[in-house]
Amino acid sequence: MKKMKPESLMMSYGYKPELSEGAVKCPIFQTSTFVFRKAEDGKAFFEIAYGHRPKHQGEEQGLIYSRINNPDLEILEGRLCLWDEAEDCAVFESGMAAITTVLLEFLKPGDLLLHSSPVYGGTDHFINKILPKFGIQALSFHPGESQASIIRRVQDSGLADKLALVYIETPANPTNTLIDIRGSKDIARHFSKNGNDIPLAVDNTYMGPLWQHPLQHGADLVLYSATKYIGGHSDVIAGACLGTAALIGRVKVLRTFLGNMASPNTGWLLLRSLETLKARMDIQSANADKIAAFLNQHPRVEKVYFPGNLRPEDSEQYEIKNRQCLSNGGMISFDVRGTEKDAFAVLNALKLIKLAVSLGSTESLAEHPATMTHVDVDPAERALLSITEKMIRLSVGVEHYEDIIEDLQQALEAS
Ligand SMILES: *Cc1c(COP(=O)(O)O)cnc(C)c1O
Repeated sequence: MKKMKPESLMMSYGYKPELSEGAVKCPIFQTSTFVFRKAEDGKAFFEIAYGHRPKHQGEEQGLIYSRINNPDLEILEGRLCLWDEAEDCAVFESGMAAITTVLLEFLKPGDLLLHSSPVYGGTDHFINKILPKFGIQALSFHPGESQASIIRRVQDSGLADKLALVYIETPANPTNTLIDIRGSKDIARHFSKNGNDIPLAVDNTYMGPLWQHPLQHGADLVLYSATKYIGGHSDVIAGACLGTAALIGRVKVLRTFLGNMASPNTGWLLLRSLETLKARMDIQSANADKIAAFLNQHPRVEKVYFPGNLRPEDSEQYEIKNRQCLSNGGMISFDVRGTEKDAFAVLNALKLIKLAVSLGSTESLAEHPATMTHVDVDPAERALLSITEKMIRLSVGVEHYEDIIEDLQQALEAS
């Protein structure tokens, strides 16, 4: 039989009803520990879990304890692998837990981290405020900086031989500027030596598992805040990391000892969410195209930041989009004419669209990056990245696009 599409497998993959009284849905395995049939089983499960020996042919990792494994998490991880065509996945209790675990696993004192800027505020804080306490330094580059210039700056830092991880977030939040995944891996390769491959990690939260597949463009690790598109209902905080079995094996060992795995209930909520991931994201992307078209022609809107607005004359950004993005996404930022006061007036006049941070959920959300999500970014840096005081960031939901447009129209005209 032909290989089925992920959306067809989201209701069944990896779940055996006969092991759960025939329940059509995977139950919440709300249990801390699992009974071993015999002592020899417990011994074998621990040998594999702690990496003391490889698995025998056909041997499966048995269930031990919910900090190590749990059916809700294992089934969820199997299903997430389908979208990104990854070998393995580790799920976490938050996106930040996934990101920080990867940074801690692949960096050690004395190492250098190369990362794109801007990155998510929490990630930025961890890189610049927490990692230095462990003697780990970071060097950042902006979207648009040439590969040659980035390589030169790494060399000039005197830490080129200490470069241990490249980390990017694309599209950049909130401006939707794209970073070349393939080009970033080229930089990592440039500094890799003696078979010591420097991994590239990509925070793919903004495009979600449908609209961009970083592993296919050279990334080694994909990270998600599953709070966003994957969860999609603004009712759960969660994270995920995907990649090869070898790399995710390392991530899972650290997860076991940090104890920041997702709970059974979180796993169950995300299994529910994955069933509609494709349907939700299809609507959000179609809505975003229509809303961007509306904003593009509105006289009170000065500038719209949306990948769908890229044209061949934007050369590099346009090429990156065509190479690595399968959609324009569901996130739109726009500058209203005027100042912060005018942006606030629009936000305060919205009725259907909720004034809240976060993104990727069923309901449309709007916020003001300069004073909310990106308030911690240095003002000079904010100016450089064109995060203006008149910018509004919109996360497009699944409502009827005419209602979203009407809400934006009345808010733009009331203010
Ligand atoms: C929200 C977000 C995170 C952090 O995820 P949490 O689930 O809130 O911990 C990381 N990266 C991006 C791009 C995000 O939008």
